Amino acid sequence: MGLKAVKFGGSSLASASQIMKAAAILASEPDRRYLVASAPGKRSGSDAKITDLLYQLYQQRGGDYGPTLALIKTRYTEIADELGVNVDLNTEFVTIEEHLTAADDAQYFASRGEYLNSLLIAAYLGWTFVDAAAVIRFTDSGDLDADQTDRLLKEALLTVDRAVVPGFYGATAQGKIRTFSRGGSDVTGALVASAVGADVYENWTDVSGILMADPRIVDSPGPIARISFTDLRKLTYLGASVLHEDAINPVRVLGIPINIRNTNRPLDEGTWIQADAGTPDSTVDPQSTIPAIIGLAGKTGYTAVTVHKAQWSGSVGVGSGLLRLFDEAQIIVDLVMTSVDTYTFAFRCDPTSLESLLIRIGTLDPDSVEIRDGLALIGAVSSRTVASAVVSARLAQAMAAAEIEVVVASSGDDTHIVAVDESDYKEALRGAYLGLT
Ligand code: ASP
Repeated sequence: MGLKAVKFGGSSLASASQIMKAAAILASEPDRRYLVASAPGKRSGSDAKITDLLYQLYQQRGGDYGPTLALIKTRYTEIADELGVNVDLNTEFVTIEEHLTAADDAQYFASRGEYLNSLLIAAYLGWTFVDAAAVIRFTDSGDLDADQTDRLLKEALLTVDRAVVPGFYGATAQGKIRTFSRGGSDVTGALVASAVGADVYENWTDVSGILMADPRIVDSPGPIARISFTDLRKLTYLGASVLHEDAINPVRVLGIPINIRNTNRPLDEGTWIQADAGTPDSTVDPQSTIPAIIGLAGKTGYTAVTVHKAQWSGSVGVGSGLLRLFDEAQIIVDLVMTSVDTYTFAFRCDPTSLESLLIRIGTLDPDSVEIRDGLALIGAVSSRTVASAVVSARLAQAMAAAEIEVVVASSGDDTHIVAVDESDYKEALRGAYLGLT
């Protein structure tokens, strides 16, 4: 299948036994040559993630941080002992403790989760450890320097046969440790895959790929075998938590597919995320029983504002003028609907921005402004095996069948969105799933 860059998430590397599973997966295909490792995640529901403990450690600096530091050290010592590797963890922890008294920030501490786990894993596998601080370059303002990173990764990785790179962090040119936002090891994995020119970016986690809906709400949703980058972006934006958002672009531009796999069920095919598929087929029978959608996602915390003024329709610039007010109030609008003399916008924002928006809207002297908060948006991404209009009709039918009031609805570009009251959110998601699959 060709060269593979492989990222294992926190639950896949939470203990020595999980690391052994990962090692077996690596050994089963010699093409898996570059590993990006997360910090140890939860071993069970009640367990702590090492990254969370490290943020806690930072919060406790100057106070009673001893127990947290001891807890973290115990986790790594256990892993090292069970793997039978010889890494000088004492010295590592002395260094970490020294940073607690120096003026270092939260990002340094958070990064140590990936750093230490990768040291142990590299020792266990006998692979080269490449510190992310040397190859993932951040600018002084804390943004990724993509060009330098690509160059440094190529220099460091293309000359070694097999390497382990810690995920989640990097450093500025002066060596100051910077992290991505939470879940950022996915980004490191994508950067590594892109730099080495991998044929596949494998992302190993604890589920067998992406599901069609949130399994905490919908009972046993089906798996998504294949999805395009574009559709994944839509589902992610609409609330599905799959990969870190910034993990898509580095591989997408090079056409490197992402394969999401389950460390605990390595034979499952998982989900393939790949270049966009062909054009939609709108000739399919509307009564078709094939799933009408690729997936469903949703988010709560929305507000809808409906503004009305007589004679607005037919005048140039009203819509753009209204949108400009959202820009000025620093609000991102996710849904716009227009009707005669009336505009409805749905968005998420804090109370201060909402207040500033309403003052601005007031200056237009509208006839009425209606505000409805406590809304949830549910979005369905059409599978293109069924005509888009059919999907939106089926979604509306599903909401009606579940007796759910749809506050706003919009369809465009194969994405169908309904806004419902937050109290109806879960019921609506379940109804939509049943109606659309
Ligand atoms: N360990 C980091 C986190 O918990 C990064 C990652 O796992 O991707 O967010």
